[in-house]
Amino acid sequence: MKYLSYWHDTAPVFAGGSNDPVEGHYDIAVIGGGFTGLGAARQLAKAGAKVIVLEAERVGSGASGRNGGHLNNGLAHSFLAAKADLGTERAIALYRALDASIDTLETIIAEEEIDCNFRRAGKLKLASKPKHFDALARNFDAVNREVDQETALLSAADLTSEIGSHFHGAMLSKKSAMMHMGRYATGLATAAARHGAVIQEHAPVVSHGQANGRHTLATSRGTVTANQVLVATGAYTPSQFPYFRRRIIAVGSFIIATRPLTAAEASATMPGNRTCVNSLNVGNYFRLSPDNRLIFGGRARFSAISDQRSDAKSGAILKAALARTFPQLGGVEIDYCWGGLVDLTADRYPRAGFIDGVWYAMGYSGHGAQLSTHLGMIMADEILGRPDANPLKGLSWPSIPGHFGKPWFLPLVGLYYKALDLIQ
Ligand SMILES: Cc1cc2nc3c(=O)[nH]c(=O)nc-3n(C[C@H](O)[C@H](O)[C@H](O)COP(=O)(O)OP(=O)(O)OC[C@H]3O[C@@H](n4cnc5c(N)ncnc54)[C@H](O)[C@@H]3O)c2cc1C
Repeated sequence: MKYLSYWHDTAPVFAGGSNDPVEGHYDIAVIGGGFTGLGAARQLAKAGAKVIVLEAERVGSGASGRNGGHLNNGLAHSFLAAKADLGTERAIALYRALDASIDTLETIIAEEEIDCNFRRAGKLKLASKPKHFDALARNFDAVNREVDQETALLSAADLTSEIGSHFHGAMLSKKSAMMHMGRYATGLATAAARHGAVIQEHAPVVSHGQANGRHTLATSRGTVTANQVLVATGAYTPSQFPYFRRRIIAVGSFIIATRPLTAAEASATMPGNRTCVNSLNVGNYFRLSPDNRLIFGGRARFSAISDQRSDAKSGAILKAALARTFPQLGGVEIDYCWGGLVDLTADRYPRAGFIDGVWYAMGYSGHGAQLSTHLGMIMADEILGRPDANPLKGLSWPSIPGHFGKPWFLPLVGLYYKALDLIQ
């Protein structure tokens, strides 16, 4: 088994990074080469701005190259909960932004000719318990009536043609999609570079200063200055940006990928070939890869660390969950096991705006594989002074009491959610 992201292992390596020294003055410096940073950099470069991306490791080495590959339209929350939290107008605006983010991906992939297996597969939110189906049905009524007619409510009987496992029904969101995340990351970075963005890999920002309207960013390989800065570091945000560290909880999410399933195994497991997520608080998400592996993920353990030891522990928990969900695959070989950090906010809504002299977009809370490119582009438009469509503008973002970057409280949160799954 490889302790490595399947997406990283099966994508071409980005070859468009700069070999020049890290130096000079730029209109905009983007910190972080995930989808947020790359989406912004491509948009800025296309507009003729002089832009540099400073990436600590390789492009896509953070959450963007480690996720489950589910491009879900609509909200991570139930729409009813979002209406209660945000008011109807903003909940609808956010829902539509998630819809638009998948359209954005589809457009970029076509325009830049990125070969990444993008497909409007549809998403199933699966009811793990009978009463979860009642909640799904209530949410479906509101979604379908108010914001998204391309949804359907499926009964347990309807699911026989969708999935080789027992659930109590599901909500189907037809606009949702899937793709190969590594091929997209390389393709997006290549496109940004082709439009003129300078992409510096292995250039971690180690200090940030501001004076006279100018930012100075020192990296381990040199220093640049810039008129504007976009912080696009998500769950990996470094201590140089304490404002964000006090508001983002970095929590591990983990994934295993089986060997390629035979055609018979794939159709006995995932005949609908959609993205799937169950309805538990400590739940699982799964889909098939382009070469028919079952990619099966979940929070598994409430850990703030993703390294080989932590990933292996979570991998064993995931293997047991996979066998419970699909007993027909109980003994299947696992070829990959990896993890990554998710940038949770306390209320699980993302944030994007301008604070303390820097622009930012982050806090996708496990639902940013699609929104990150789109929000990066929206922030680029804001920076360029264009009319923008930021659906998060003005949303307050209080710091988390007692939180300074290392989430000491995660095990307690884990216990709380596991207990909820027993009683709800
Ligand atoms: C295991 C896992 C599964 C997930 N599954 C899904 C899913 O199925 N669907 C979904 O919608 N979302 C999912 N997500 C979330 C999604 O991947 C993220 O929301 C999205 O990729 C965020 O992109 P980003 O560009 O903001 O951040 P990232 O991709 O994390 O990029 C941040 C970058 O900043 C760089 N960086 C950090 N510090 C510095 C520094 N000092 N200097 C320079 N660069 C720095 C990092 O190296 C990194 O490359 C998942 C996440 C994980 C971890």
